[in-house]
Amino acid sequence: MDLEDSPTPDPSRQREGSSANGDLKALIRTIPDFPKPGIQFRDITTLLLDPHGLATCIERMVAAAQGPVDLVAGIEARGFLFAAALAVPLKAGVLLIRKDGKLPGVTIAEDYALEYGQDRIAIHADAFAPGAIVLLIDDLIATGGTARAAVRLLHKAGAVVKEAQFLVDLPDLGGADLLRSDGIRVNALVSFPGH
Ligand code: AMP
Repeated sequence: MDLEDSPTPDPSRQREGSSANGDLKALIRTIPDFPKPGIQFRDITTLLLDPHGLATCIERMVAAAQGPVDLVAGIEARGFLFAAALAVPLKAGVLLIRKDGKLPGVTIAEDYALEYGQDRIAIHADAFAPGAIVLLIDDLIATGGTARAAVRLLHKAGAVVKEAQFLVDLPDLGGADLLRSDGIRVNALVSFPGH
C-alpha cells in the first residue's frame, strides 16, 4: 500500500505491523542478490537518510511500546540506531548487544546458528540487575535466530523481556512467529512477504 492509500494510518494497525506503514516501506530500498544470489536485501539506509521518515519511524516505535521500560537493548549494529532513539523518549537506558569479543568488561554470551556455522553475541555481565525490564530492538527480523538468541541472553542475565520491536519483518521466514511462541510481544512496522 502506498502513502496515498493510507493518509491517516490507524495506530492499532501499525502495532500489528500491517500495511498502514506504507510511507515507511516506500523508503526502504530492496537490493536483489545481496550478499548472495537469491537474497532480497532490505536496505534501510535509504530510510535513515530521510529526516521525516526517520522521525516517523521512531515516533511509531515509541507509540507502540507498552509499559515502563528500564533498558532498550539494540542488536549490533543497526539495532543500536533505533535503541538510542527510542531510549530517550522512553526515559530508558541503552544496552548494547554486541558480537562477541567487542565489549571490554566481563561478558555473558549466547551462541546461535547461522545458515552456515555459528555466531555469538554478548552483553556486559554487570549491565543491569535481575528484574530489569528490557525492550529488544533490531532493524529486521528474518529467521529470528539473532533475536531469539538475544532474548535467551537477556533471560540468562535475569532480564524481563516482554516486547521486541523491528522496523522490518520478513514474515515468510517465520522469526516473528517463533519469537511470539517464546512469549514475546512482537511489533514490526513494515512487512515484506516473500524472502
Ligand atoms: P535473522 O537472525 O535471520 O532473523 O536475521 C536478522 C539479522 O540479519 C538482522 O540483523 C538483519 O539486519 C539481517 N538480515 C537478515 N536478512 C536480511 C535481509 N533480507 N535484508 C536485510 N537484512 C537482513
